[in-house]
Amino acid sequence: MSAMNNQGRPTGAGEATSSNSIQTYTGNRGLRLEEPLIFELDNPGACGVDLDEPDAFTSRLGSLERKARIGLPGVSEPDVMRHFVRLSRKNYSIDAGLYPLGSCTMKHNPRLNEKMARLAGFGDVHPLQPQKTVQGALELMDTLAHWLKELTGMPAVALSPKAGAHGELCGMMAIRAALAARGEAETRTRILVPESAHGTNPATAALLNYKVDEIPATAEGRVDLAAFKAKLGPDVAAIMLTNPNTCGLFERDIIDIADAVHAAGAYFYCDGANFNAIVGRVRPGDLGIDAMHINLHKTFSTPHGGGGPGAGPVVLSAALAPFAPLPYVVHSADGFKLVETMGEAKVDGTDPFGRMVAFHGQMGMFVRAVAYMMSHGSDGLRQVAEDAVLNANYVLASLKDDLSAPFEGPCMHEALFDDRFLKGTGVETLDFAKAMIDEGYHPMTMYFPLVVHGALLIEPTETESKKTLDQFIGTLKHLAKAAKGNDKTLFTGAPHFAPRHRLDETLAARNPVLRWQPAAPKQAAE
Ligand SMILES: *Cc1c(COP(=O)(O)O)cnc(C)c1O
Repeated sequence: MSAMNNQGRPTGAGEATSSNSIQTYTGNRGLRLEEPLIFELDNPGACGVDLDEPDAFTSRLGSLERKARIGLPGVSEPDVMRHFVRLSRKNYSIDAGLYPLGSCTMKHNPRLNEKMARLAGFGDVHPLQPQKTVQGALELMDTLAHWLKELTGMPAVALSPKAGAHGELCGMMAIRAALAARGEAETRTRILVPESAHGTNPATAALLNYKVDEIPATAEGRVDLAAFKAKLGPDVAAIMLTNPNTCGLFERDIIDIADAVHAAGAYFYCDGANFNAIVGRVRPGDLGIDAMHINLHKTFSTPHGGGGPGAGPVVLSAALAPFAPLPYVVHSADGFKLVETMGEAKVDGTDPFGRMVAFHGQMGMFVRAVAYMMSHGSDGLRQVAEDAVLNANYVLASLKDDLSAPFEGPCMHEALFDDRFLKGTGVETLDFAKAMIDEGYHPMTMYFPLVVHGALLIEPTETESKKTLDQFIGTLKHLAKAAKGNDKTLFTGAPHFAPRHRLDETLAARNPVLRWQPAAPKQAAE
């Protein structure tokens, strides 16, 4: 007898094997359709548009004239439509189900945001339009800047960076400019980064030619304060710290850390990717932070995870504010103005380190973020953080006896587990995650952060209901029990039900095939 899920569909491994052994003529399974590449759909001569024959002309290209096809697939309009609709149905998304990726804040994107972003006055503006014709769009940027400063308690914000990592680069360039203004850019060459940091932190520091110096974590999963203080010195430019950190824990010593950094003449960069956990409750400016990026696509909804683009505004302390990059919006009696040149900035009394992007940033994300803030209100934003933390703790408390939690006590917005519960089962974190796909769940973040072995990092976010979480928790308990019961059928070779099974991810990474090549034309027989 195979098990049934709560929708009455068989879930047992026996079923999986027998249904997998049936080969269909088309390769399709039920109404789940196989889809070739669009190049493989090529039907030479087929076309979705009906173009008039060009008027007679004499080519001046001579021998350069192309005789062969240019290699675009010939596909009719209905076939193109079906192709892309089928592909879109293969794309798992936050609109389809729970997306428990830790360190990512994959939350519901309210449709209201989408509607606002498509208003012609926002959606159709061109970045080179005269400023007097886009006063509303500039006002929206000013409003976003206002609320980002308000929510973080910081005096300035650079809106233009296009992702969290880009925001890190922006913040660190502001820090470097401030050091240069003090004549210390050459002598301060080291950046302190906790070992649990997201990879973008050391990458950002390295991109700016800084030496990255790792700060060890305590057994509690937080920065080792004594080890950190011992590393401070006159050659330290900054610390890059994430709070709550990537173990889902609040860095309780953050004020001491900020004080020590400043006493050493360095700056405090905070990775604000986890702002969702504290928005409306804690103002980073009050913690002594000098620069922090905010992933609008994490904290303030807006599509994330293949849906992109992102936006990574950076808030800056008074010490760094003068160095904020161009462009920025100012408001005067004449309306809103985008300060776009060094000359204008000089009049303003600022000293921008330069510019991060060609234009002004991700307008669509700005609109979505403002719509999200306005529709939540200040009480709603505070509740976001509270519910995100509550949901994560519900997951942690429900699963800590079935999985294994590396750190004692409650968490912030994400629950971290390690692979001790799989010890001796022959099942690894990867197998466990792949088995989740068969259950209809996108896996959680795996093997990150690196400070715990075989990490499983789950961030439910505030937008998931208790019912959804209970089903998810039930699934993980079921899988943990199967693993511990030495029942490997759910895990070996999983996912069984996905269109593709276990891929050779190492080979794919080492030897990626990124380009479709036509099959070699058949040689005519002599
Ligand atoms: C997501 C994330 C980043 C990078 O942000 P992107 O927008 O993906 O560039 C940096 N740090 C942490 C902790 C993150 O979770």
